[in-house]
Amino acid sequence: MWRNVLIFILILLAGIFLYLRLDRDKRIKTIRQINSDTMTTTSKTENEKLSIITVFDNYRADPLLKTGWGFSCLIRRIRPIGEKSGSLKEENILLDTGADSDILLSNMKKLNIIPETIDFIFISHLHDDHIGGLNGILKIRPDLTVYKPELFPKEKEIIEDVYTTGSLGNDIKEQSLIIKSEKGLIIITGCAHPGIVNILEKAKEMFPSENIYLVLGGFHLEDELYPELKSIISDFRKLNVQKAALCHCSGERTRELFKKEYGDNYIENGVGKVINIE
Ligand SMILES: [Zn+2]
Ligand SMILES: [Zn+2]
Repeated sequence: MWRNVLIFILILLAGIFLYLRLDRDKRIKTIRQINSDTMTTTSKTENEKLSIITVFDNYRADPLLKTGWGFSCLIRRIRPIGEKSGSLKEENILLDTGADSDILLSNMKKLNIIPETIDFIFISHLHDDHIGGLNGILKIRPDLTVYKPELFPKEKEIIEDVYTTGSLGNDIKEQSLIIKSEKGLIIITGCAHPGIVNILEKAKEMFPSENIYLVLGGFHLEDELYPELKSIISDFRKLNVQKAALCHCSGERTRELFKKEYGDNYIENGVGKVINIE
């Protein structure tokens, strides 16, 4: 009889041991799953954040800001760096400076853009309405690198995923900025003197497999006639441009025609407009 009791106790102990062992494995697995979920969630929130803020323009989007003839915008990009999760890098590029330092600096202040955080200035072309505010910024930041169009006879990557088209055009040399974003190419023009469609074709030549997500800036189409404007819009469609945010020297009629054609994908651009690309 004692022998039977002993066998029963042994079986019971073996059962308890097995149960505890299985439970431990299950707990370890759960902990591993939690970690991997966290990693996925972290990497999701660590995607690139890109904002384009119009700081100088003759059109107004924010009533608290001053308008003036010219154009300037700030490109702010926040992206994860390195292998370690949680490390983010912020980059600020000022494209053009408008016609006037006082207006530029006052608008920047109201938009909470601190000149000390600017990494470099990209100048599309040397017209007064794009370089007029340059001295004002350089007084505060004399160390800033200014990329003028003559520095880039050809296309070039300036920082990771940010390119210049290089100087285009015959009479007025102008460069445009191309940003490779998670949504596709973002093309920003100052005045588009070389022709807006030529600039887009240049971008397509540089990146044949990328789609054009957004075209922003001055299109220089103020005096263009209706049939030409219709043909430009049809070229935009052929090039599969998804969104348009024209301002500055694009012309009132051009803006109206683009708005009609693009509907929800037309962005009413002017000083104070913040376009978030996430
Ligand atoms: Zn110009
Ligand atoms: Zn201009």
